[in-house]
Amino acid sequence: MEGGVIPRPLPHVSLMSDATKDLSSLLHNIEQPIVCSRCADDVTEGRAGPVSMADYMRLDVGFSPIGVQVWCRRHDANVVHIDFEGRSLPTDFRCIVRRQPVSDRDVGKS
Ligand SMILES: [Zn+2]
Repeated sequence: MEGGVIPRPLPHVSLMSDATKDLSSLLHNIEQPIVCSRCADDVTEGRAGPVSMADYMRLDVGFSPIGVQVWCRRHDANVVHIDFEGRSLPTDFRCIVRRQPVSDRDVGKS
């Protein structure tokens, strides 16, 4: 299992131990995507052309001095800045890499 890039130690990040964490939280659990409202306007009003929101948005996501910020590179603007209010939150940087079925891995071998 590989993980995301673990940033330098931050006061509001508490890395979770492997043994205590339910792996289901590492699957795709997003119920409401975070989108740039200006990108959404560009897509819904046709200025972006025939692209999806996911293909159009160019977002930076990262830790800030107070929490996590999402920044729209296309509009050079804040999308959301979540303030942890000094709390240290459980954070998991592991990711699950699914193995390909054996038949797919063997394709192309001679
Ligand atoms: Zn945008």
